[in-house]
Amino acid sequence: MTAQADILYNGEHDTWEVRRMSDVTTRVRGNLAAIEPYKPGLSDETLRRELGNRRIIKLNSNENALGPSPLAIEAIRKELPRLHLYPDGASDLVREAIARHHGISPDQVLVGNGSDDVIKLVSETFLEPGDEIVVPHPSFSQYGFGAQVMDARVRPVPLKPDFTYDVDAMAEAVTPRTKIVYLCTPNNPTGTVLKRSEFEALMARIPDDVFVVVDMAYDNYALDEERLQLRPEELQRGNVGFLFTFSKLYGLAGLRVGYLVANADVIQFIHRVREPFNVNRVAQIGAIAALEDVEHVRRSQALASQARFQYGRLAEHGIRVVPSEANFCLVEVGDGAAVFEALMRRAILVRTGFRGLESYVRITFGTPEENEMCIAALLEVVGQTH
Ligand SMILES: *Cc1c(COP(=O)(O)O)cnc(C)c1O
Repeated sequence: MTAQADILYNGEHDTWEVRRMSDVTTRVRGNLAAIEPYKPGLSDETLRRELGNRRIIKLNSNENALGPSPLAIEAIRKELPRLHLYPDGASDLVREAIARHHGISPDQVLVGNGSDDVIKLVSETFLEPGDEIVVPHPSFSQYGFGAQVMDARVRPVPLKPDFTYDVDAMAEAVTPRTKIVYLCTPNNPTGTVLKRSEFEALMARIPDDVFVVVDMAYDNYALDEERLQLRPEELQRGNVGFLFTFSKLYGLAGLRVGYLVANADVIQFIHRVREPFNVNRVAQIGAIAALEDVEHVRRSQALASQARFQYGRLAEHGIRVVPSEANFCLVEVGDGAAVFEALMRRAILVRTGFRGLESYVRITFGTPEENEMCIAALLEVVGQTH
């Protein structure tokens, strides 16, 4: 029995426990010992248990404060009597809807059980033990997770002090062992974007056999005209993929739908590691309806614009807010963990604990009223915890 296999993480209490385990655990793959379980923002259910019936302002997981697309809810309701039927395994109708949306062809689209699923599928498609991936830091943790599961190495490249991309450093981190480079724009948790000119400069220095995955989970919130955006002709490049999700602007995080857009040659290989029914029937139906819910999209974008303005006012109080193109912002508060705790006691949930960002909290945009309450609480709390 290995020492590592004896130590178990208890997610519910955030503790590590030593336990006697069966001998079969000595035979799990060696690389699993190093994997720290993902720590999600506290779920609605957990919060209700901890905080009782108080009104909870949940600004910790970048969910849409408006809720799900109403058209999606309606379509899902109508689909429920058909739940005894397997879903369409290849998500054909969803891929066609997505293809129309971006002006591309369905064979350039792969749909997953959330973009987390897609990240894992891309990892399984490319990575062998000892391979490397390059990721920006700080950024979304799932890229590294996908690599660790495959026993590949993660090379983090720090963003610049203003949280924009360091293109030179990214290019220099690529080695002959590099199989995937991840970019995230707008980046989570900073809200900053990659400019098209920066992307072009980077691509010019990246070998054609390295797959570049651009995660655009928040792109439909962004306004910056200079940012990298998906253009159909981009996919002629064989080595670029764009990752999107229905979890954020479309308000369907609980449904789990994400997708990758890339050259059809790459897509057909990723299909080989996909589970036959990886996207469920209601998720498919809901996603198609949400794509067409122009009104919900418009309202969600307007809410984010208003929130940017609201949080921007923190600067008048000497509190730094990183300019954000997403539906959240990073706020410099001094002691991030202390501010998190103090807000939590007021039933306001934000996110902290990003490595290297100990003096920040990330706040998801809520309704205008929720934002005002959060800002007021923050102004009180930051004074006390400094
Ligand atoms: C939230 C988020 C996603 C979405 O993940 P899903 O699995 O589709 O819910 C992807 N990338 C980033 C950067 C995110 O913040």
